[in-house]
Amino acid sequence: MTQIPKVMKAIVLTGPGEHELREVPVPQPRAYEVLSKVRAVAICGSDPEIFQGGLAGIWPPYYPFIAGHEWAGEVVALGEGVTNLNIGDRVAGEPHKGCGFCENCKAGRYTLCMNYGNSQSGHRHYGFVNDGAYAQYAVHSANTVTKIPDTVSFAEGSLGDTAAVSLHGLELTGITPGGTAVIIGPGPIGLLAMRLAKAMGAAKVIMVGRRSRLEASQRLGADMVVDFEKVNPVEVVREITQGRGADEVFECSGAAGTLTQSILMVKKGGKISLLGVPGAEVQEPVPFKQIVHDEIMITGSRADPNTMWRAIEMIAAGKLNVQDLITHKFSLDSYQEALDVFINRKDGAVKVIIEPNERE
Ligand SMILES: [Zn+2]
Ligand SMILES: [Zn+2]
Repeated sequence: MTQIPKVMKAIVLTGPGEHELREVPVPQPRAYEVLSKVRAVAICGSDPEIFQGGLAGIWPPYYPFIAGHEWAGEVVALGEGVTNLNIGDRVAGEPHKGCGFCENCKAGRYTLCMNYGNSQSGHRHYGFVNDGAYAQYAVHSANTVTKIPDTVSFAEGSLGDTAAVSLHGLELTGITPGGTAVIIGPGPIGLLAMRLAKAMGAAKVIMVGRRSRLEASQRLGADMVVDFEKVNPVEVVREITQGRGADEVFECSGAAGTLTQSILMVKKGGKISLLGVPGAEVQEPVPFKQIVHDEIMITGSRADPNTMWRAIEMIAAGKLNVQDLITHKFSLDSYQEALDVFINRKDGAVKVIIEPNERE
């Protein structure tokens, strides 16, 4: 059995834009929580803003704070009442835990918990509102961790959350078998949406983006890539589909103008799922009449309610490759370099992983 030390290393945010590697006490699991030894934690597109403090007061609500939510590791201690996990289990985590009592939580929609941010209610949003996994050990509610089989590496497990986010976004609209899906934004969520759309039966997946990430999507299996800096993606999609439009559009960039583009490139009766998180300042006038007359369905998509275990099953079964999205791995000591590589997309960086304990 693993000896649990009293102190651990963690990346501690001490104020907006200020962070350092520090020794802090290893947290203790309370009832229905587990303590895990973190073996891999992937840097998320939302992490740089949390580090910079652009949303300080909300994400995080306090300092000092430990961010990080895309993690995998080993369970090393159980809080009282935990029956679904054992010490030694290999697991992957998701960031949201609902209060469990509000109408949305009771309906299984716990990423839309009515008590969001109210930790008193039992709600948790690890790495955003509550301490997360950029540390050697982390405590999580036992219902936010999913077992991973021995055949799935910790690094792959740490991509389970991203894959599960993409899966939720796709499930909200469904995928038309034999149809054409467009994905705007070839970041990690868009790339995994691309692979899942194919696995779910799309005949053609068109990626819209630019530069190195668009190139990456081509390498990683896109049927077609559209560079929006060179051509009008709406015209290209209409052309490819003989004027018909795409069956589904998945907006994974959050960039201004892409909602309108999505509406203009989807077919009559088509569906649009919005996964990319825009800045609060992004406001967009939309072709209202076309949405009405063409019965276009548009849905927002938040995180990964109830999709994590299926994302892990797909990875384990070889139906979803995440391995080749992992471009870099760093130790906890080199986290500054890891952030730099991720933020500045150095050497074709897609997913950058930090390994806080033994390296895989
Ligand atoms: Zn994330
Ligand atoms: Zn709730």
